[in-house]
Amino acid sequence: MASELAQKLNLLMQSGNSLISIETGDEQRATKIILAAITLRSVSLYDWSMTRGLRKVDRDGVPGLPTVEGPKAAATLDFIEQNTEAAIYVIRDFAPHCRDAFVVRMLRDLESTLEQRGATIIFLDAAALPDDVRRLTVRFDIGWPTTDEIENVIKQTFQRIRRNADTTVQSTVTKRDAEQMVQTLRGLSLKDVGRVVAAAIYDDYALTVDDLPRLVEAKRTLLGNIGSLEDIAVDFSVDDIGGLRNLKSWLRQRRGGFSRQAQEYGIEPPRGVLMLGVPGCGKSLCAKVVASDWNMPLLRLDPGVLYQKFIGESESQLRRALLQAESMAPVVLWIDEIEKAFASASGDSSDGGLSQRMFGTLLSWMQDHRHPIFIVATANDISALPPELMRKGRFDEVFFVDLPSEPAREQVLGIHLERRQRDPSKFNLPILAKECRDFSGAEIEQAIVSALFAAFSEHKDLADQHILSEMKKTRPLAVLSAEKVASLRAWANDRCVSAD
Ligand code: ATP
Repeated sequence: MASELAQKLNLLMQSGNSLISIETGDEQRATKIILAAITLRSVSLYDWSMTRGLRKVDRDGVPGLPTVEGPKAAATLDFIEQNTEAAIYVIRDFAPHCRDAFVVRMLRDLESTLEQRGATIIFLDAAALPDDVRRLTVRFDIGWPTTDEIENVIKQTFQRIRRNADTTVQSTVTKRDAEQMVQTLRGLSLKDVGRVVAAAIYDDYALTVDDLPRLVEAKRTLLGNIGSLEDIAVDFSVDDIGGLRNLKSWLRQRRGGFSRQAQEYGIEPPRGVLMLGVPGCGKSLCAKVVASDWNMPLLRLDPGVLYQKFIGESESQLRRALLQAESMAPVVLWIDEIEKAFASASGDSSDGGLSQRMFGTLLSWMQDHRHPIFIVATANDISALPPELMRKGRFDEVFFVDLPSEPAREQVLGIHLERRQRDPSKFNLPILAKECRDFSGAEIEQAIVSALFAAFSEHKDLADQHILSEMKKTRPLAVLSAEKVASLRAWANDRCVSAD
């Protein structure tokens, strides 16, 4: 809570830390916390920015006339040196001024003076201060807005719009929907929460549960792609997956697992699944469906981007990616082909233990983090997987995704025909499903795509024989690498739960 943070900040100042740095993109929220911290003490507050100079601020946050005008940081530090009050100074965007050696020296000289007077400078920056200045300061992390803060902004935005609108503004949001909205908007600044909610209301002068996908989308675009995390747009439903009955019902049961009600009921939030299996059978599709069905953004951890050419950078890159996922939570974090990212962690690696260390970082994070993050890890090759990954407790379940059974193939055929505006009831699905034995879902889809081209070139509508003929031409991967698939199946038999 903001007041809790204000108390912490106050404690930090009172315990003699005269240089404090707050690094945040949410300047407004940081200012509120500072103002709340000030009310706990009888000290003066000054605020400096390049554009507005140094101004004394009253307890409501209203600034007076500039005490020091202009953009010069040195003049302000000089004033602070001379001012004998036990004041608190908020200095905004100081990072660029640290390039001036004179300014940095002044700051070093000021440190002990401030200490003696019980005065504090708080640096408020969107970017990190350079290392040499940062080392002089104590960092104060304001974290991300709490659920209570977000809930308040949603309410205030709704009330403000209702007050000012010429027409009736409605809300049909239940307590449960509201909670999901709050969860969805975590990771955004309060200002962005206000903007996104206002846009959702102005759209139809109502706030309803139908706004949820819109909020997810807005969050996606606001946060954009971040380093090795790729943000994926998803628009799928469970009905887009053929077969995989067990996996689908498992996921359906865990749908509300992050809600407050589930927690009150005594349910531990779900942590994630590992899906192992034959390529092209719908593992990636499942990751997308979970995100869309649970109304969460989908972040894909890209192992390629993770590995950097400089030693040490890869690990910090991974840590940064995990921190970013935490800040955006609730999210679905998809680690595609996990064996590729951490392959050499399983045996003697030739990378000086890098992948082993990276893997260790990931495992301990998976064990320790307490954020609403659902991990979907997919893998095609188990021999490359370090055994620790399979240990109970890492993932809630390990599923084996096999080639689709005959009934599942019928469903997959139906799904892909429908996706291409064809009525599945006009096709002999049982015969087609028999013909494509050993096909993966992706290969079934490909047969339909090729059949469409064939029919189009003949100026005919798509019919069974086009699809049958394409299927006959296909040599499925499972046949080409039959041994590999057989050994994968044998391995998974007593270690994994069947997805179908
Ligand atoms: P890989 O390991 O090669 O990434 P994968 O198991 O993740 O494969 P997907 O990428 O999900 O497989 O499958 C590719 C495409 O094949 C999907 O986008 C989908 O169109 C189709 N497909 C695969 N399996 C199914 C299925 N069970 N139901 C419907 N479509 C499927």
